[in-house]
Parts: sequence; C-alpha cells; structure tokens
Amino acid sequence: MVYSIDQTHHPDLRSWVESANQKGTDFPIQNLPFGVFHRQGDSGTPSIGAAIGDQILDLAVVGRAGLLQDLPDSLQAACRASTLNPLMALGRWASSALRTRLSELLRVDGQKPPTDSQILVPMAEAVMQLPCHIGDYTDFYASIFHATNVGKLFRPDNPLLPNYKYVPVGYHGRASSIVVSGTALRRPNGQRKRPGEAAPSFGPARLLDYEVEVGFFIGKGNELGRPVAIAQAEEHIFGLCLVNDWSARDIQAWEYQPLGPFLGKSFATSVSPWVVTLEALAPFRCPAFTRPEGDPPPLPYLRSPQDTEWGGIALTVEVWLQSVQMRDQGIEPIRLSQATFQQMYWTLAQMLTHHTSNGCNMRPGDLLASGTVSGPEDVSKGSLLEISQRGAKTIDLPTGEKRTFLAEGDEVILRAYCEKGDYPRIGLGACRGIMLPIE
Ligand code: CA
Repeated sequence: MVYSIDQTHHPDLRSWVESANQKGTDFPIQNLPFGVFHRQGDSGTPSIGAAIGDQILDLAVVGRAGLLQDLPDSLQAACRASTLNPLMALGRWASSALRTRLSELLRVDGQKPPTDSQILVPMAEAVMQLPCHIGDYTDFYASIFHATNVGKLFRPDNPLLPNYKYVPVGYHGRASSIVVSGTALRRPNGQRKRPGEAAPSFGPARLLDYEVEVGFFIGKGNELGRPVAIAQAEEHIFGLCLVNDWSARDIQAWEYQPLGPFLGKSFATSVSPWVVTLEALAPFRCPAFTRPEGDPPPLPYLRSPQDTEWGGIALTVEVWLQSVQMRDQGIEPIRLSQATFQQMYWTLAQMLTHHTSNGCNMRPGDLLASGTVSGPEDVSKGSLLEISQRGAKTIDLPTGEKRTFLAEGDEVILRAYCEKGDYPRIGLGACRGIMLPIE
C-alpha cells in the first residue's frame, strides 16, 4: 500500500466542528477531501476548501491567518490557487503534508480560530465548482459484470470479447462537457434508429441512461514517452470522485461501430465536487479482484505483488432516483442499485499503467473513470440499460410511475462510501443531476 495508516486515520479522532463527529457523515475529520467553491452571491475568485462535516474549511483564509506557515512555500502557494491543479502537480507528499496539517488544526485540541474568522463556510452557503481544470478524460470499462451484462444484450452468444481479460479497455471521452454535480442537463438530440426502421431520424434521444462510475484524478504527471510502472502508479493518483457517464443508448447503439462511443456520451458527464484522497482511503484497501479459475493472469506489466494484495478498494457505490412527482409529493429518492468497487476486474493502478504503457503522458487534473460499477447480482447493476434489460423490464416507482429509461426531470443521485469496523464512514459525497427537456 502506498499510504500507511497514521494518526490522521485514528477512529477516536474528533473535531471541534461538531457536524464532523456525527455518525453517518461523509466528511469526518478522517476524510478531509479537497474541492473548489465560492460563497453564494460572491462572484470573486473561487477558493480551495476541505470538507469537514457540513462545513467547508476555506484554505485561502486559513493561509492568510498564518496557519499553514510551517508548510513549504510551493504548497502554501498551491493552497491559494483557484483550482486543485497546482496541488495535484506537487505529488503525494504535498497532499499528505496538507492533510496532516489540517487534521491537527481541526481536531478537538487543535487551533480553533475565533468564530468571526470566516475560516468555515457552511456547505449550504457555498457553490461548488469543478475541482480542477480537466485537460483530458478517459473512460474505462473495468467491471466484467457490466461488460458481460451489456454484451449479452447485444451479442447473446458472445457477450465478452476475447481481449477483455487482457486489456483494460477504455475510450477517450470529452473533457469540455464535464460538469459539477447539481448542474442541470439537457436531453441531447441525435441520430436514432429503432430496430426495423430502414433509416435513422434526427431528434431527442429516447433512451436516456446514467452510468455510475468511480473517477480518479491524476496528481503528478508523467513525461511523454515515459510510461508509469505499475509499482509507481498510485503515486500518480491524487484522489477519487463519483462520475455519472450520462448515455443516450439509442444514439450510442447506432453510432458505436466501428470506432466506439461518440455523441451518445459526449453531451454531458457529471462529477461529484469533493476529491477524496487515496490517503484517506488507506484503511479500506483490499486485495484486487480474484480472477475466476481459468482466467489468464494479467500480463507482467499489469501485475505487482502490492497491487494484487492492496489494489482493491472496499467502496460501496449506490444509485438513487427521484422523479418530479416524487419531489412534488415529498417522497424520498429510491435506491436503484448498490455494488462494491472491490469487484472491478481491473484496479486503478492497472488502468493508469495501461494508459501510459505506450508512452502517453498524463497531466495533473486529468480524469480517468472506471466504467460502470456493476456486480453479479440484480441489485448491483449500475445502469438502466442493465436493470431494464434494454427496456424489456419496467421499474416501479412509489408514485405508480414506471421507468425503463430516464424521464424529464428525473434526478439521479450517486453516492459512495467506505465502512469498516471502528473507522468512521468515509464518503465521496453525492453526484446529482437532473435531465431537462431540450429547450
Ligand atoms: Ca462509461
């Protein structure tokens, strides 16, 4: 494991921010994820913040108060930036040193600042932004259960292609249409062709779907022509977020051959605003997925003893849905799926190593996403395509409404968290999105 468990993870640690000590919060003092925000009604420069309970610790204010003085100048400067890219670029020593400092500051016996210092901003009074400038975005396909479920729908006799167990398959996504959680989205137009129709027509996508994925941001980059070896891969990962890879299945089905996903995916991708560092997840690391008897081992460049033993993350991933009628009637969202990230066929390190194996360079803030997180059970299917069996099965909502794919105004809420023994829950927060009609 790249990170050891230290005093910042200790289950008994408590904060002077009371809401961080409440059971079930995603953001106890053991988490300390980073994000970018501005205060409501303030159009000025955004600040970097750390989530603590239902509050945000404003790192720009913390820095001005002289509370980061013992940290290296480069790290203090990165805390004054308006994106996470400079902090990401410094590498893991920097986020680790900052985490240690913030943990000392926020613990019950830490340096509690005067109440009028504006060091804390209630999350309810903040507007979250994308955490960083995302130069490039790559989407993988790392769940063998998702790949098999989808493959079965399109190729019943041959669901899994022969390269799957050798290659962490991915495609280059579109970085410009990545939006932060809460951004309203528009149903895309595109070419659609129903089975049996002789020619396609152009119009609003009819089969709109989500995909629940775990994203990981690149910290320190690598030079062009210098692949990252698997033993070093996690040193280049800054942290995790949730990703909703919105998908228009009808556009996708018509366009995807021969070159893969294009406009059926690139109209929007939502990400959660808080980036949870790999260090915060250290207590929840677990072995990589155990391949079934008879599967080939990964090729040597995708294998290390450390990754086999610690490459997995025991992260539970959920999808919730609330229709307009449910919102109007005050009915809580219903859970559509729950899966575990432990069951992904490929680890984060394998995806990153494979991506750079041809010499491709990664830059700080690049986003890589895991692909839909699905498991083998019905309850663990991470897209409506799988749950509805491509529209053959309907989902009943508490209002009596039925769904196969998304309807106007449906809100999709992704959540993910780790829980283990005495350790407080470490959550990724929520990734929300409502799909509105075309204007
Ligand atoms: Ca995807």
